Amino acid sequence: MREQIEDLVKLQQIETETVQIKSALNDVSKRLDDLDSGVKSFEKTIEAQERIINELKKQYRDHESDIQLNLEKEQKIQAKLRSVKNNKEYQALLKEVEDVRGKNSKIEDEMIEFLDLMDTTEKIIATKKDEYINIFERAKSEKENIKERAEIRKKRLAELDVETMEVSKLVAPELLKRYFIIKEQTPGGLAVVLVKDAVCHGCNVNIPPQLYNELFRCDSLRFCPNCQRIIYIKGS
Ligand SMILES: [Zn+2]
Repeated sequence: MREQIEDLVKLQQIETETVQIKSALNDVSKRLDDLDSGVKSFEKTIEAQERIINELKKQYRDHESDIQLNLEKEQKIQAKLRSVKNNKEYQALLKEVEDVRGKNSKIEDEMIEFLDLMDTTEKIIATKKDEYINIFERAKSEKENIKERAEIRKKRLAELDVETMEVSKLVAPELLKRYFIIKEQTPGGLAVVLVKDAVCHGCNVNIPPQLYNELFRCDSLRFCPNCQRIIYIKGS
């Protein structure tokens, strides 16, 4: 009986490990996705800054062509100025020149602001791109780690499958059946638990002295009166 119980304990250990490995493997694709989306969302922050800089560049170019147009306008006015005869008209044209120059100087001020903003944004992008390299590399090696560990776990799972079959064969069928019935009814899945110093390690309750003494005989299956699990004591 001792051997049979030892086999059941072994079987239970195999199953516990199997459950743990399966749950770890279930997390694998989610953890890979999380790493990918972390990298993606960082890419998006860079893209957002790049959109800002493109918009600034476009506005800068628009301002440049506005300045060009105003300069051409000024040249035309200057040409008119040279041929003008009366003073009133002359003054009016001078005023126009002043207006055009005023507009251009305003535009130039704005362009300086754009240059500052572009400079700041370029620096942000450069910093973010440096960070991105680190984030990308970290995610990449983390993903490789996860995949490697998953492969090891899958191999272990296959080994455990074989072990389950082998150990199951060693246990008497009716005992195995009982084990599975108890296992199904037992919260937390443990069906076979150790008794140490007369305490059941499944429920932490003392078992009666009579039953505790009987356990040392190892002659039949015994159950905890409190939690109904199969109980056993460590072999001496
Ligand atoms: Zn118990």
